[in-house]
Amino acid sequence: MSASFKCPNCSRKLFSYEPGAQKYGSMVGMCKYCNSKYLDPRYKEAAITGIPKRELGYVGAVVLLLFGGFMAWRGYSVLSNIDSYFDADMLRVRSWVFVILGILFVVAGLIEAIFVVTGLKKKKMEKIMAESVNRLKNESYVWDLVKLGVINNPEAVRNATGYSANNRM
Ligand SMILES: [Zn+2]
Repeated sequence: MSASFKCPNCSRKLFSYEPGAQKYGSMVGMCKYCNSKYLDPRYKEAAITGIPKRELGYVGAVVLLLFGGFMAWRGYSVLSNIDSYFDADMLRVRSWVFVILGILFVVAGLIEAIFVVTGLKKKKMEKIMAESVNRLKNESYVWDLVKLGVINNPEAVRNATGYSANNRM
């Protein structure tokens, strides 16, 4: 279910988004109509929230493998004695859909597992974290986050990133 985001200042619609699906990125946007800054609900800062361990581990891969495997097995077990069903034609189509989707999920799970094993996943997360720390080196960005209520004070940034926003390098 997508939601539409309106500017908190001028109430004009800026974009639609999926409330559940969050990406890592700059949390501050600027309204193209009234130039006021707003908190972008699509993004979170990795250096502030941290990256949950499960995003680095095998959980995603295991879920995909189990789910896909179960779907494919369900489809296959119906297909293997399709003649015992009354509405065989309808069931045959549906079962093939189950088998094919299940296999696709299994393949996605294997790819995800390869990403974890080879360390590519970790590398990607490290890049996301480095980008986040870089954004937080920008003092005006940090103050925007304070004003928008994401962090209490710039000191919180130092705690989260090891970088002090008060230090001008
Ligand atoms: Zn606006």
